Amino acid sequence: MSGTFVGMPAFPKAAHEAVNNQTLRGNLRHATHTIRGKREKAVAELADWAELREAGKRIKDHTLRHLDRYLVQLEESVTAAGGIVHWAADADEANRIVIDLVRMTGESEVVKVKSMATQEIGLNEALEAEGIAAYETDLAELIVQLGKDRPSHILVPAIHRNRGEIRDIFAREMSEWGRPAPEGLTDTPAELAEAARLHLREKFLRAKVGVSGANFMVADTGTLVVVESEGNGRMCLTLPETLISVVGIEKIVPTWRDLEVFLQTLPRSSTAERMNPYTSTWTGTTDGDGPQTFHLVLIDNGRTDTLADEVGRQALRCIRCSACLNVCPVYERAGGHAYGSVYPGPIGAILSPQLRGIASEIDASLPYASSLCGACYEVCPVAIDIPEVLVHLRERVVEGGPVTREGNKVVLKPAKGHAAERAAMRAARWAFSHPGALRTGQRLASRTRRFHPRTLPGPGKAWSATRDLPPVPAEPFRDWWQRTDGGKDTTK
Ligand code: SF4
Repeated sequence: MSGTFVGMPAFPKAAHEAVNNQTLRGNLRHATHTIRGKREKAVAELADWAELREAGKRIKDHTLRHLDRYLVQLEESVTAAGGIVHWAADADEANRIVIDLVRMTGESEVVKVKSMATQEIGLNEALEAEGIAAYETDLAELIVQLGKDRPSHILVPAIHRNRGEIRDIFAREMSEWGRPAPEGLTDTPAELAEAARLHLREKFLRAKVGVSGANFMVADTGTLVVVESEGNGRMCLTLPETLISVVGIEKIVPTWRDLEVFLQTLPRSSTAERMNPYTSTWTGTTDGDGPQTFHLVLIDNGRTDTLADEVGRQALRCIRCSACLNVCPVYERAGGHAYGSVYPGPIGAILSPQLRGIASEIDASLPYASSLCGACYEVCPVAIDIPEVLVHLRERVVEGGPVTREGNKVVLKPAKGHAAERAAMRAARWAFSHPGALRTGQRLASRTRRFHPRTLPGPGKAWSATRDLPPVPAEPFRDWWQRTDGGKDTTK
């Protein structure tokens, strides 16, 4: 089964290796540039895009503010429609619930709809440890699973693979899992898709249990929604006798009317389509139609802790469109694996350190996995100010301070290895709160500017090795302002 991210090195080390992989960089550059151009055109078609973006932001903020109420409403709606709701505080509890539910059916295999939530909790690995095989049915997820690989993109988990690599994986691995790849398989997309279709068909027709996530959950009717491009998800949602949906608690929208906004912004932001080719909705169970048993496993896994953070909570608005990944210059070069999480790219850099905390080296390094260029904020269809959260999390890494973990207020210690940054920030804070000293320092810096080194010494050396230090002006701005009366008197 697919590998996990446990034990990954911190972002700078992992990214360094990825940057030196020419094939990976080529694959990523081609894929992200293609999709970003298409997204731009699809978004430009809508004259009210800015209003839709604002509406999406407000709906999500409103729902998150009243999440307790909407979650109770959702549970009542799902139960009234014949479903069973389970609550999971963390990944272990969610995995245990799903394993027990599959065991109750007497089955030892499940088919899966592509789902970030189940990847987040490591469900496939947990099922495998209990002797239950989980078959991914999304084409890209299938490639990742067969290749014993890790996903590297939210929407296209196998974005780091090119056609030739996919052909080799299919030819080598499919027979291990079921129907082998056809003889003489080439790397044309149509042939690869047909090989996957035939391979998956026997899984769809045999499996008695389906496992899914959901893009949205509608509180007032208890309806779950999955949007996709291939139709494989719909097969998993309709053919098995038992359906288990594992969903993060933040995926709620209050009413069907709210969906209208996201069903416009999500496809255009993710695949640059005007609407999703397949939009599946299911509400509890219906006699003689679809799965006859439906379980909804609602997972927290760090979400209420994230909600407690006034700046960081906006990350929970994310609808997983992946637009921020496709425009990110850091993601384009480092690739998704370097982020050490199922959530790569800019959203991963702010979500993972909040869901998992910053105790590990990799999580403490993620807020720095950005150039702060702001392109992610520009494209985000729910207007998450990712740079703002990144800076906020950097402060947390450097300074520590109060946070909420597992519902309790705790005070974090600063992460290791940031002593120089902390000292610099403290010096800056002192200088800015002592105007006299600041002015003296600025004048001194101006007068000695000819002797300033072009690179920083000591711990600052690595920082200045890849940056041009800004030149110090001949005269401090405040002196110039005073001397020229704010620029009005040009004779002085
Ligand atoms: S942060 Fe915004 S742009 Fe990135 S995946 Fe989430 S919704 Fe899409």
